[in-house]
Amino acid sequence: LYVDHPLGAGQSVPLDRDQAHYLFGVMRLTVGAQVLLFNGVDDEFRAEVASAGKRAGELICLELTKPLQLPPDLWLVFAPIKKARTDFIVEKAAEMGAARIVPVQTEFTNSERVRQDRLQAHAVEAAEQCGGTFVPEVADLQKFDRLLADWPSDRRIMFCDEAEVGRASLSLITAGAEDGPDGTGRGTPWAIFIGPEGGFSDRERERLKAMEGSVTVSLGPRILRADTAAVAAMALWQKTLGD
Ligand code: SAM
Repeated sequence: LYVDHPLGAGQSVPLDRDQAHYLFGVMRLTVGAQVLLFNGVDDEFRAEVASAGKRAGELICLELTKPLQLPPDLWLVFAPIKKARTDFIVEKAAEMGAARIVPVQTEFTNSERVRQDRLQAHAVEAAEQCGGTFVPEVADLQKFDRLLADWPSDRRIMFCDEAEVGRASLSLITAGAEDGPDGTGRGTPWAIFIGPEGGFSDRERERLKAMEGSVTVSLGPRILRADTAAVAAMALWQKTLGD
């Protein structure tokens, strides 16, 4: 269970209404039952139900069960599409071990607003389901130009471009990553860029290609839907540069 509260041996963790409803109403736990808790910043702890009410409750942390595992320093930058597909991208990015998820508004992005709180909740649920101890941060929607203007100089870009058909993607990423601490690019901060349904504009494509240390990769000869492309790109990155 994810809780927004510090964890440590003996620590008391108060439960809000939704958590109490889930644990005692849905899961039918009673006093003395045990649950695994994580908060995205501390280690995972086994905790015991100390009090169980309809609208509130309390857990007491017993013992450390899993140390906090930070994912590789990978951001997924994507242009939000239809609501359900955006939810899917955030969920899969969290499952696949993105450290940060950044919705970006590009020239051909149709949605001008995203519910950051909703997307963050999806990231929490995804972390819960895959037994992770870390929750990626979902950033607020940012404008493409502003994002690149403030881009951290050490973070390399893996630009997924359907126009690159035929290029060998794996070797391109590793070729672009040979300057990593161990010569493989592992440990280097990276960001994957995925465009909207209409793709990046020519100007945006040129801008991404011109960013220092960026590599442009193909995900194969077919044009993938943005949500498929996001998952394929993360799998490719994890295989090449992830842990
Ligand atoms: N511009 C395209 C069009 O309208 O024909 C479609 C863009 S595609 C649906 C959405 C995004 O997925 C692209 O901007 C790109 O980042 C990524 N993408 C899809 N297929 C890809 C491929 N084969 N290689 C690399 N990136 C791909």
